[in-house]
Amino acid sequence: MFKLRPFIGGVHPPENKHLSCDKEIIPIPAPEILFFPLSQHTGAPCQPVVQKGDKVKRGTLIGTCEKLISSPIHSSVSGTVKSIENSSHPVIGRFQSIVIENDKQDLTEESISPKKNTENLSADEIIKIVRDAGIVGLGGAAFPTHVKLSPPKEKVIKTFIANGAECEPYLTCDQRLMQEMGKEIVEGIKLVRKILNSERCIIAIENNKPDAIEQIKELTRNENIEVIAIKVKYPQGGEKQLIKTVLGKEVPSGGLPMDVGVVVHNVGTLLAIYEAVNFGKPLYERAITVTGAVKNPGNYLVRIGTPVKDILDFCQVDWDNIGKIILGGPMMGISQQDIQTPIIKGTSGILVQTKDEITQDEEFSCIRCAKCIEVCPAYLLPTQIAKVVKAEKWERLSQLHIKDCIECGCCTYVCPSKIPLVQYIKLGKIKTK
Ligand code: SF4
Ligand code: SF4
Repeated sequence: MFKLRPFIGGVHPPENKHLSCDKEIIPIPAPEILFFPLSQHTGAPCQPVVQKGDKVKRGTLIGTCEKLISSPIHSSVSGTVKSIENSSHPVIGRFQSIVIENDKQDLTEESISPKKNTENLSADEIIKIVRDAGIVGLGGAAFPTHVKLSPPKEKVIKTFIANGAECEPYLTCDQRLMQEMGKEIVEGIKLVRKILNSERCIIAIENNKPDAIEQIKELTRNENIEVIAIKVKYPQGGEKQLIKTVLGKEVPSGGLPMDVGVVVHNVGTLLAIYEAVNFGKPLYERAITVTGAVKNPGNYLVRIGTPVKDILDFCQVDWDNIGKIILGGPMMGISQQDIQTPIIKGTSGILVQTKDEITQDEEFSCIRCAKCIEVCPAYLLPTQIAKVVKAEKWERLSQLHIKDCIECGCCTYVCPSKIPLVQYIKLGKIKTK
């Protein structure tokens, strides 16, 4: 029996998962034109390995980089490279991107086919497959997965946690993956466990997903894998917060989960690992939740590179009444200005808000209520950091441990003075890079 020790801080925003949690994942047709930013992951951007006029197939390598912390990029359709140009990027504004015109034939690379004898693969062979498939963390951080699977020798990984928390309000794609692709996710877990050689393996799921919990429990009944239901609290799905709740361990300031003998992988990432190993499939599509003010909210399988506009057309949005389009959820998502912005590997959802739903709150002075400090799961002083950022005293930010901020937005959410604390903190992080 587990004794759970919930992390300190956090908030309980309205969950709003009812809009899409019962909707099965369905594929959205690939669009005419797709945009592939050459940076879709934490780490070094890729260089293009195709040029204008080249023919590509679904699964063709189009961008790569030799640096360790990077991840290759593959085409998600067959067609022709139309251009390589600066275009809209959902996280960093604009970035060099490969633009591909879909020929609608959906020709596929021959390397994508069922593989035999995968149980005989060594850990190093699996890691190479994961790297070559361009797999990154699909929970949002998009950190290259092969790096997390290769901890230094001195770091013994005692526990591997499969992260099925999905704490961000509105989003339900991970829940649906666990219900619909649970068997494959469990196989992905076994592959990772083989690589990490961890004593314990845990799947942690927030208790607002009872069907997913039952499904995974059933599938792991004869496996040495523990399934635990954790209480709903945002940002429970953050790696450090999940480790604290499940194991009672604190990852030190500036440290990584491996420093306390733990590795965490999102359930969508585990599915991608299974598909790469068993079918040679690169990460060229993913499940996302499209929700909020759309006629058909739901969970969709989307080709990487698909513009937001094509997805919202498919889900029947009222274009005349859009107030805000957010990629991700309401807490950690990023508001978008350009509807040609594409879905990238780390995009977990699209949330549409109407004009009536968005508030233009005026920022008032800090009243020193300390609410932002109470809710910060990283034990930071958000009000102090914002003050230092406003004063442009960049050199003081490291003393305030700004890099420990996980950008969860809890501080902004509770601030009665409507101070956009997390925006100030993000700016401070950029200035101290
Ligand atoms: S300072 Fe960072 S980690 Fe702390 S509540 Fe704000 S956004 Fe979250
Ligand atoms: S929550 Fe807002 S008003 Fe309260 S201390 Fe923090 S910054 Fe100041």
